[in-house]
Formats: sequence, C-alpha cells, structure tokens
Amino acid sequence: MGRAFVYVIVGGGVAAGYAAHEFVKRGVSQGELCIISEEPVAPYERPALSKGYLLPEAPARLPSFHCCVGTNEERLAPKWYKEHGIELILGTRVKSADVRRKTLLTATGETISYKYLIVATGARALKLEEFGVNGSDAANVCYLRDLADADRLVSVMQSCTGGNAVVIGGGYIGMECAASLVINKLNVTMVFPEAHCMARLFTPKIASYYEEFYQSKGVKFIKGTVLASFDFNADGKVTAVNLRDGSKLPADMVVIGIGIRPNTSLFEGQLTMEKGGIKVNGKMQSSNSSVYAIGDVAAFPVKVVGETRRLEHVDSARKSARHAVAAIKEPEKSGEFDYLPFFYSRVFTLSWQFYGDNAGEVVHFGDFSGNTFGAYWIHKGQLVGSFLEGGTKEQYEAIAQATRLKPKVEDLAELERQGVEFALSV
Ligand code: FAD
Ligand code: NDP
Repeated sequence: MGRAFVYVIVGGGVAAGYAAHEFVKRGVSQGELCIISEEPVAPYERPALSKGYLLPEAPARLPSFHCCVGTNEERLAPKWYKEHGIELILGTRVKSADVRRKTLLTATGETISYKYLIVATGARALKLEEFGVNGSDAANVCYLRDLADADRLVSVMQSCTGGNAVVIGGGYIGMECAASLVINKLNVTMVFPEAHCMARLFTPKIASYYEEFYQSKGVKFIKGTVLASFDFNADGKVTAVNLRDGSKLPADMVVIGIGIRPNTSLFEGQLTMEKGGIKVNGKMQSSNSSVYAIGDVAAFPVKVVGETRRLEHVDSARKSARHAVAAIKEPEKSGEFDYLPFFYSRVFTLSWQFYGDNAGEVVHFGDFSGNTFGAYWIHKGQLVGSFLEGGTKEQYEAIAQATRLKPKVEDLAELERQGVEFALSV
C-alpha cells in the first residue's frame, strides 16, 4: 500500500506550518503536498505552550494559535489544508526513511514516496534518565514539548495550587514555566547547575536582574547543583527532590527543562550530520539533493557569524521553512539563506529580544534598576550582538538592523553612554 506526492514534509510543527503557507503562496496543486505528523493536530505556534496556554484565566487553546498567527498572518486551521488540497496525515509517526529510494514508512504501515522531502521533525526534550536519574514517568513530573505535555502540565499544576513546585533547569523552559507556576499560585524553587540563569545567553549582570525580579515574585534559586534523586510516595508520586549538594526539597510537582535533542534518527547514516542536526547548505538542502531540512533539526550556514549553527528558536524555524520552499520552487531566483539569529522571551511583565551572536566583549547600557536596559557584544571591533529588555518596537527594529550591519565600534565607553541611541543612529 502506498501513496506518492511531489512534496512531503515529515513533522508537523512550526516549520511545517510555515512551509505549507509558503507552498500555497508560491502555488501548489491539489494532491502535490503532504504533511505527516506524529501530533494529532495541525501545525501550531509552539511558543504558546509555555505562555498563553498556562494562564489561569482565559488560557490560549487551539484552534486560536495554529500557524501562522505568530507573525500576524492567516491562521491555518485544518480546513485551510483541505481547501488547498494539502494532505495532512496526523497522529502518524514516520518510522523509517530511505533517501535512496525516496520513500518513508509510517507506523501504520503505509509507504509514502516523494520527489522532494522536507525534514521538519524538530526536537525532543532530554529526559532525566539520560543524566542517570529515574522518575520521569511519575504522575507529577512534567516535561514541556508538545500539546499533550502542556495539557498534563496544566492538570498537574491545577491540582497543586498553593503547593511546592520544583523547576529543574535554568534555561528557556525553566524560566518561562517558573513564571507561569507563580502566576498559578505555586511556591517555586528553581534548581540549575550554572552560576546564573540562562547561562548560555545572559551575562551575570543581565541574569541578576531577572533573578531579582523572580525573587520579588517569591521564586527561590538553588544554583550550582543538580538533581540526584526523587522520593516517591506509595502511589509513585514524587514527594521530594534530593539534590547532589545533600539538600532535600519538598515537592508537589516537578517541571523539567534540561535541553533538547534534534529528531535526526530517521536519517542517521543516510544524511551528513553536524552540530547534532542535519547539515544543510544555504538553500536548506542536505547532503542528498532531494532532501531539505528546516527548523530545530537543521544545521545551516549562518552567514552573519560565518559558521554552521543549529538554532532552536521559532523565528529561525519560520524563516528557514520559507527559504527552503523558495529554494525548491524557484531554485534560480532564491539566493543563500542569510539569517540574523533572533531570540526572545516574555515572562511576567518583562520582555526581551536578542539579535546576532553573544561573542566577544560585552557593553551593558541603560538603567538596570528600571525597566529598559540592554547589552551589546563587540567582537574584533564590530558590533555582533544586541540584547534589549523593555524596548519599544522601534528600538527593537533598530538593534536588529544595527546588528545586521555589524558597525565598527572603537570607543566602548561612548557606546555605553549612547546605549540604544547608538542603534537608532546606525
Ligand atoms: P517542532 O515545532 O518541534 O515540530 C516538530 C514536529 O515533528 C512535531 O509535531 C513532532 O511531533 C513531529 N515529528 C517528529 N518526529 C516525527 C516522526 N518521526 N514522524 C512524524 N512526525 C514527527 N522559540 C522562540 O523563539 N520563542 C519562544 O518563545 C519559544 N517558546 C517555546 C516554548 C515551548 C514550550 C517550546 C517547547 C519551544 C519554544 N520555542 C520558542 C522553540 C520553538 O518552538 C522551536 O524552535 C520550534 O517549534 C521549532 O520548530 P520545528 O518545526 O523545527 O519543530
Ligand atoms: P535550554 O537549553 O534552554 O536550557 C536547559 C537548562 O537545563 C540549562 O540551564 C542547562 O544547563 C540545564 N541543565 C542541563 N542538564 C541539567 C541537569 N542534569 N540538571 C539540571 N539542569 C540541567 O533548554 P530548555 O529545556 O529550557 O528548552 C528546550 C527548548 O525549548 C530549547 O530549544 C529552547 O530554545 C526552546 N524554548 C525556547 C523558548 C524561547 O525562545 N523563549 C521558550 C521555551 C522553550 P547547561 O547550560 O549547563 O547545559
């Protein structure tokens, strides 16, 4: 049994949704395009899961955040795919791929063949067991990657109001979930191995601003140690978290955000890998010319920093998806993907954006005791990265534009004095 399509997208997350939108913009005939996704719903804006989805009042629920509402474009509900003749095969895992034969085998036993394949399988959350700790299956231990995880987190959180939540990991999931747990009236303790939160991006000075803000909301931080084991009750629920430093934290629930691994296993040994992902060129094309990769799973040349990187952020998923489709549909017209890395987060009343690369020397600016401050990264005499908390739309656009232009900076004291004005004047 089998079906054949011109274009097949494996994975039905953010990148798949934006790729489908781009196919329709550029013209695709009925029955040419198929999306196969393990998730039971049409592509949606994953960032909503750690923000609007977790609100205690009027939480976001599908269909409100299907792609492409995140960029203020049309919302692609299942009906949209139908109207455009796009086959959505949902709740179906692809279990093997043969890039030489150009076929995929689904868990339901169907063989699907393609002319062009776009890999958009994203990533999976790292499990505690991968760090030698057991307990991921306990009913009150939560991860957050997909809708099923988010539903579970909401129900556990609602059953623990007024209780103790321990958040393991000081990255994006840890920070955003901790804020949501506080808003849902839990007492939150964050535990992570580094000296400060968001260690891969934030400087100690930036991190201390957010940590103090979180502390003002009642969050406790335990840094420089990791989880060693859990205590369980007779029902198998976690009752306490034991840390390697010997301390014990009572817990009604635990949220784990300790990083991700790209879903590359279908293609190991078939496509060239780099940085843990599928290596692609500036057209998002892998080592097999019929196979493209986009989103979290793709390691692509980031021209502005001059190296191949794998980015785990929504803007890169959206833009790499659009670029791959442009490259497939109009290979002569589409150039090399020229992407400026963009990361952001929103927690409580705070909101920051970062553009570029956090390499080199840092110059902080603005009022760290107020609402608007930032930092520039200067590498080899050029501005390569910019961070801004509490900016206006115009200011964010200015730091993005300035970072892309990589202006020369000679006087760091003057840069600090000018602050965001520097970006506005570039
Ligand atoms: P995904 O969106 O993860 O989609 C992958 C899809 O492939 C999934 O549907 C999966 O089920 C499917 N799949 C995988 N393997 C198979 C298979 N074998 N067969 C069939 N289907 C398969 N980024 C930001 O920049 N800002 C944010 O605020 C932000 N918030 C986030 C909040 C949360 C809770 C999470 C988890 C991520 C957040 N991100 C954020 C990151 C962003 O969502 C990802 O970078 C983005 O979703 C990547 O898109 P993708 O399409 O590559 O992967
Ligand atoms: P991150 O990589 O952001 O953070 C993981 C954190 O867990 C780091 O602090 C890491 O430390 C720490 N850690 C690693 N191992 C352990 C351990 N054994 N015990 C305790 N802590 C540990 O991943 P997340 O899980 O937070 O996020 C998952 C994905 O979702 C990422 O791709 C992220 O980009 C995305 N996301 C993005 C958001 C945004 O852009 N606003 C929001 C939510 C999710 P170390 O650095 O030392 O490894």
